[in-house]
Amino acid sequence: MDLRYSEKDEEFRADLRTWLEREVPAHGAPPPVNDWPARRAYDTGWQRKLFDAGYAGISWPKEYGGRDGSPTEQLVYYEEIARVNAPYIGVNFVGMLHGGPTLIAEGTPEQKKCHVPQILTGEQVWCQGFSEPGAGSDLAALATRAEVDGDHYVVSGHKIWCSFAQAADYCELLVRTDPEAKSRGITWLIMDMNSPGIEIRPLRTLAGEGEFSEVFLDNVRIPVSNRVGKENDGWRVKEVTFRFERGAAFASDMIHLKQFVSELVDLTRRAPEGPQGWNDRALRRQLGHFSAELDALWAMVKLSVCESSKTGIPGVGASAVKLFYTDLYQRITEFGVRLLGRAALSRDDVAGLPSERILARSMQALSLTIAAGTSQIQRNIISERILGLPREPRPAPPPRPAVES
Ligand SMILES: Cc1cc2nc3c(=O)[nH]c(=O)nc-3n(C[C@H](O)[C@H](O)[C@H](O)COP(=O)(O)OP(=O)(O)OC[C@H]3O[C@@H](n4cnc5c(N)ncnc54)[C@H](O)[C@@H]3O)c2cc1C
Repeated sequence: MDLRYSEKDEEFRADLRTWLEREVPAHGAPPPVNDWPARRAYDTGWQRKLFDAGYAGISWPKEYGGRDGSPTEQLVYYEEIARVNAPYIGVNFVGMLHGGPTLIAEGTPEQKKCHVPQILTGEQVWCQGFSEPGAGSDLAALATRAEVDGDHYVVSGHKIWCSFAQAADYCELLVRTDPEAKSRGITWLIMDMNSPGIEIRPLRTLAGEGEFSEVFLDNVRIPVSNRVGKENDGWRVKEVTFRFERGAAFASDMIHLKQFVSELVDLTRRAPEGPQGWNDRALRRQLGHFSAELDALWAMVKLSVCESSKTGIPGVGASAVKLFYTDLYQRITEFGVRLLGRAALSRDDVAGLPSERILARSMQALSLTIAAGTSQIQRNIISERILGLPREPRPAPPPRPAVES
């Protein structure tokens, strides 16, 4: 497939650019990070504007309110929204970047009709309830139990690290429907976050943000019609979710990272002399490497977008994109902290150096290598499923207790 931009793509870019240059300043500054009602209103308000202008869901089917655009239009979109620093996708992250795409690929016609257009307009905010205290990387160990009672599942258990749970209307939920099987006993459900029996307890991060929550489920009733895929088929459905989450989901953030490297170049140029200045060849070489690596990463994103446009789902290479991006992000922010020197001891800007911004990014860098599956797990996936290396030895299951006769 030809991933060069055509005349039509450039026309699309020009229209989008004009629109963004008018609308981004008009949308104002984002609210304080822990004001969830205001954040929801701000993020979904922006989503609504995108929708009304025909810029929500560039590659989503027209049938559900999307634009049915080409892969190159999708890439142009990512480039332009990053270029003008458009409002971050924020609380719409899960719905737009993996919940909605999973429903388009795997949902029933009723599920699609009920959720996909509303995600695009910003009326529905989604969160993800996969992880549990004893089931993060080893997701197949999840214990949240669902039992059928008439035409409902009755769900009890404990989820953790749910981003945006306090702002969400729906949750992509993984539950155990067969206690005897491991990965083959899991089901993917759509949970209405306003159902009785749900308790949300916010957690605070190192950076002082309350983005995560623990979610406790006590006999929550979820209609069987909210099941995505078959019962006990959730392991396969979650793979679809993960491929969207790990593939191009971070595309506009990658362009922001490129902008960040340009800021670091400016920073070193400001002080040409000394070990952190522009005259230091090793330091200039390092900045050049980062720039080349970012170009390589963008080529991988292009490949992933192209692949998913052919099959509807990103390939297993999404893990390589995720691993490369988050590792590079970490190295670039560490380099930024090194440039700050003693100014890195303060979270406030010191002597005109942007300490606050660089330190905020470096604190976020570690979490990115954990979110959506840790780097170690991505390496396992790449080695086993892309390179075909032998499977990592899995620990033997604990012996079953003897049954007394
Ligand atoms: C910013 C952020 C947002 C998140 N948002 C959500 C969300 O919205 N919803 C949600 O459900 N979860 C979310 N998570 C949770 C995330 O998916 C888990 O933290 C992640 O899967 C790791 O699980 P764990 O924390 O239990 O670590 P563990 O599984 O306990 O892993 C600990 C360490 O052991 C390593 N390890 C474990 N098993 C292996 C193995 N087989 N081979 C090699 N190394 C291994 C891991 O790589 C890691 O370094 C989020 C996490 C972060 C940081």
